[in-house]
Amino acid sequence: MKEAAFYEKLPAGRVRCRLCPHECEIAPGQHGVCAVRHNRGGVLYTLVWDKVVAHNLDPIEKKPLFHFHPGSTSYSVATVGCNLRCLNCQNWEISQWSKERHHWPDTDPSCPELAVLERAVIGEPMTPERIVAIAQHSRAVSISYTYTEPTIFFELALATAQLARQQGLKNVFVTNGYTSPAAIHALAPVLDAANVDLKFFNDDAYRHICGGRLGPVLETIQLYRQLGVWVEVTTLLIPSLNDTEAELRQMAEFIAGVGVDVPWHISQFHPTYKMQDRPRTPATTIHRARQIGLAAGLRYVYEGNLPGQGHETTNCPGCGRAVIERFGFRVLRNVVRNGQCPACGAAIAGVELSPAVNTGRQP
Ligand code: SF4
Repeated sequence: MKEAAFYEKLPAGRVRCRLCPHECEIAPGQHGVCAVRHNRGGVLYTLVWDKVVAHNLDPIEKKPLFHFHPGSTSYSVATVGCNLRCLNCQNWEISQWSKERHHWPDTDPSCPELAVLERAVIGEPMTPERIVAIAQHSRAVSISYTYTEPTIFFELALATAQLARQQGLKNVFVTNGYTSPAAIHALAPVLDAANVDLKFFNDDAYRHICGGRLGPVLETIQLYRQLGVWVEVTTLLIPSLNDTEAELRQMAEFIAGVGVDVPWHISQFHPTYKMQDRPRTPATTIHRARQIGLAAGLRYVYEGNLPGQGHETTNCPGCGRAVIERFGFRVLRNVVRNGQCPACGAAIAGVELSPAVNTGRQP
């Protein structure tokens, strides 16, 4: 049983969670929007402190991070839960698990026994020490907090990240960006990289498709960058929802304003979860979006979910030479040396790009 971080007590046993921009006010016996933070007797608890529902050794390219220790592996962990409810979620079985009422036992709200609720949460008990030990044993370069939204398992992620940092491992958030600035400030000292989803450049779409808002996501991307965390951005292109030239240009210009060396991953949508009524994104739409990104000044724009058909290569921004070539999540060739193009000496933005410094192995 773990008391939650980032909340304040209100009159009549209510609490205000300040972990994410929802800022849920929660009555005794109730959950917040994410349904994994529970008010019991005026104290807010996390129900997923040590309940890891998924853990795998992944290529860092799968996050996707293309400019952070390329070719390395990242030990990736998740609990159930998410603070958004995207209709097209690819991991909905675990991200939305906690929001299905039938998963929870009928408990008396006044009962102080949290163990009943905690037992109901699916997942394998894993401490930060065990997660770090497995990552080291696997020769991973980093630990990724991913698959669902790591903000909602913040306590586990932060404790693990602090320990991982002490042991020489890197830490990665793969996130929807729906995190409070206070939580980001607490995490940033031990966070090395983040891939942040920028789903739409339209507040209505964020509200109706995902149950969130655009503004806090933009602030998160800017804040990570200001705090020195390596940032890459991912956009899933959904036909007729976020693929107009105007919206793509707005996204690209926003990212370029954060930094022209922020990599932008534009990925192909496929029908899933509650969004089965739309086709896959045509490859031509992805190619067009990439050109819009480049026209906005972005140096590194990638096409995702199109292995072998999309642009997955890192080109030197100075001379255009292919310096890191990939197929899907695999690095085929990496000629970056000391963060520079071997042909013209231009800097290639990123963290530990040269292959010689990687210690992880791709599976
Ligand atoms: S993390 Fe966000 S969604 Fe969950 S209880 Fe806190 S404010 Fe609400």
